[in-house]
Amino acid sequence: MDIPDIKSHLSIETVLAYYGLRADRNNRLLCPFHQDKTPSLQVYPPTNTWTCFSSNCDAGSGDAIEFIQKIDKLSKHDALLKATELAGAGKLPAAPVKPDGATMGTDLAGTFEKLKVNLFKNDKALAYLKERGLEGVECGYSTGKEMKGMKHCIVFPLKNKAGDVVSLYGRRILNNDTAKHYYSAKRQGLYPGYPSSEAKTLLLTEAVIDAANLMAMDNGQWIIDNENTGILACYGTNGLTGEHLEAVKSLSKLNEVIFCYCSGITTRN
Ligand SMILES: [Zn+2]
Repeated sequence: MDIPDIKSHLSIETVLAYYGLRADRNNRLLCPFHQDKTPSLQVYPPTNTWTCFSSNCDAGSGDAIEFIQKIDKLSKHDALLKATELAGAGKLPAAPVKPDGATMGTDLAGTFEKLKVNLFKNDKALAYLKERGLEGVECGYSTGKEMKGMKHCIVFPLKNKAGDVVSLYGRRILNNDTAKHYYSAKRQGLYPGYPSSEAKTLLLTEAVIDAANLMAMDNGQWIIDNENTGILACYGTNGLTGEHLEAVKSLSKLNEVIFCYCSGITTRN
C-alpha cells in the first residue's frame, strides 16, 4: 500500500474508534491532545481530516495518519506502518509508547493492541457492539488464535494504577454457551481502570459490560467531563475483590457510591 492507498482505505472514524474515541452527531469530540472540557476537535469524514479549535492546544490539524502519529507519539514511518495495519494490510508495529515515554511493555498490552485491530476486521463483532450500545468503547476482538480460551470474544482491558493493561476480560458473543465470561490468567487490575483520586461519586456496576455501557452512553462525555465521578466494574455478583476495596478506600474525597446493578439503581451515602 502506498500513502494515497492508505488514505483512501482508512477512515478517520476507524482511527478514532481504534483509540476508543467517537465523534458526536456534529462530528466533534473532546480533543485527546489537550485537557479539553468542551468538544474542541472537529473531524471531517469526507476528507478524513481533523482540526482542534482550542487556543490551548498545539495539535492544529491533520489527516488520519497524522492523528496516529500525534496520539501515539510515533515517527512518520511508524505511524504509516500502523495506519497500514488499521487499513487492513501489513504488520502491526510494536505496542504504543505512552506519553511519559515508557513502553507498555507486557505481552498482554501488545496482544490487546492486536485485538483492537482485529475488531475492525470482524463484522459480527462490530454488529454486536452496535446492538449492545457499546460503540466507541475501547475493546478488541479475539478469534481465539491470539488469546487461547477467548474464542469469539469481545475483549476489554483491566488496568493497574498506572493505567497499564495487566489482564483481559473476554465476553463471548457467539453461541448460547452457559460460559460467556473469560479472564486471562492471574486476573488483576480494574475496569475501566482506577478511578480518579478526585472522585466524589463512584458508580459501581455488577459487570464489566455494564461499566462499558455507561461509558458508551452519551459518548462517555458525562463521565470524562467530570473528574468528580468515577466508574468501576465488579467481576460479577461475587466479584468485588480486595483490589476493588483498596481502590475505593483510597478515594479520600468519596462521599457517594451508586450501585448500578441489574435489579435497579440505589444510592447510599
Ligand atoms: Zn486540542
